[in-house]
Amino acid sequence: MRRLVTVHWLLITCLLVACVAPVTPPEKFSLITHPDGRLYVGDQVSFEVMMPSGFKPEGHEVQVSLGDKELGRAGFGPYGVAGRTEATLWWAWDTRDLQPGPETLTFTLLPDGLTWQETVTLQPQSGVPPPEPGAHWAVLTSDCCILNYITGTAAERDIASLAQVADEEAADLSARMDESLSEKIPLVFMPRVLGNGGFAGNAIYVSYLDNDYLGNATAQVLHHEFVHWFDTLAGGDLRPTIFQEGLAVYLSGGHFKPEPLIPRAAALLELHWYIPLRTLADEFYPQQHEIGYLEAAALVGYMVEAYGWKAFDAFYRDIHATPDGRDSQAIDTALQAHFGITFTELEGSYLELLKGQTAPADVRDDLRSSVQFYDTVCRYQQALDPSAYFMTAWLPDYMMMIQRGIVADFLRHPGGMDNRLIEAMLVNADHSLRAGEYDQAERTLKGVNVLLDVLRAYPNNGMQTSVCPALRTKVRVPEGFRIGAYSRKIKTFRRVCQPAGSSYFAVVMVASGYHYGQIPPPIKGAMIFVSQLKYGLHHNCR
Ligand SMILES: [Zn+2]
Repeated sequence: MRRLVTVHWLLITCLLVACVAPVTPPEKFSLITHPDGRLYVGDQVSFEVMMPSGFKPEGHEVQVSLGDKELGRAGFGPYGVAGRTEATLWWAWDTRDLQPGPETLTFTLLPDGLTWQETVTLQPQSGVPPPEPGAHWAVLTSDCCILNYITGTAAERDIASLAQVADEEAADLSARMDESLSEKIPLVFMPRVLGNGGFAGNAIYVSYLDNDYLGNATAQVLHHEFVHWFDTLAGGDLRPTIFQEGLAVYLSGGHFKPEPLIPRAAALLELHWYIPLRTLADEFYPQQHEIGYLEAAALVGYMVEAYGWKAFDAFYRDIHATPDGRDSQAIDTALQAHFGITFTELEGSYLELLKGQTAPADVRDDLRSSVQFYDTVCRYQQALDPSAYFMTAWLPDYMMMIQRGIVADFLRHPGGMDNRLIEAMLVNADHSLRAGEYDQAERTLKGVNVLLDVLRAYPNNGMQTSVCPALRTKVRVPEGFRIGAYSRKIKTFRRVCQPAGSSYFAVVMVASGYHYGQIPPPIKGAMIFVSQLKYGLHHNCR
């Protein structure tokens, strides 16, 4: 799958068009503009044009124009880990000489000549959110690395300690993998969450921000990505994804935190989540990523234990593509050559090891909650921050950004009330998970999923201007939750919309720290909120 993308993406795990009003024909081609969220005068705007189903993209290009001026054109090709077919026009529209207000862009499909228009509203430059407009790229060089960051961000504040962490993690891996650096590693600190917080390509890109809903596990993330870097330096041929990612988690002693890999993998069997190794080898990234990464890491651990590091390393770097193009077949061939066993036999003995283990209850609970957490994160990203979703993440090249003086693509992300509410809840869930409070974490995650159900049922922010239609949303109230309403029309709500014994309600949450008066106008019309306070959810209106 990674061969489909131009950049060699290795994601740690799995890794809006607020101001665009399509004129014609929205059902045919869809558009995402970047930077995310509102566009401001001065932005350098990129376009992702997605094709409708059934469209054959071969030989077609999309041309974008403003009036008589062509802004750019691009052919269709696979984008991202998902290989989504789209035309991508990077930074095609320089808006610095324009005035605030609506602009009409014309999209033309070449050579057919089909055209449609999109109206984009540019906000005044004075409204650009901080740390813009003053933010710019800066650099610090440490023993191991060239650290690139944007001024005015958490990374700038903490850059000295980040350099120290990077040096420690790189030195550790250099020794363990017996590889030395001939050149320093380029590191890029991104002030927004993309994917699951890190990936390696022409540099190591790591999310670094306060209140990161994936948890501030910078050392663990850096270590994981450094494994990929040293792994690439060490060479080899095919290096199947199952072993690349397995190695990264194994050598990091866990995925997002230190974890007992073999007992944790044994819990997969108890939870009936085990993925057959051939499936995992051939389709790694589409699997539930927490499960896939864990299973791969425990497999590497098992093989290192059984055969020794040197023999494993020699095997891993001597795997070659087979005519059918399947990693599982390539692994099978190399296993027979190096260890005289088939992939099926390896899986048999691996499973025997796992079956012989007893997974402690806390390990099993942690795994179950972790899987729920990352599933919920993926669901949130797909619904409300699609550019962050790892399969189609917006991952600009940092060197191009530096050359062009662009910071907005990393600084801005959807920041609507829905995003803030859910991200605040995910931060709480992450804290609970890391504190071993699994029931609490799962309660909060249920709340997030209920909110996402509501938002899916009511795409217009999930909000209705009257109470009852929202309440008819078919959302089952999770066990342990109570419906709360926060409304100036609370009496009406209780009388009309909460029939006795009904188990279906729409619920929306107010994050702790907010109250109704602070809720911005687009959401003010919403009549029902359930706030997450003590219980993850809390009714504060009765
Ligand atoms: Zn990885």
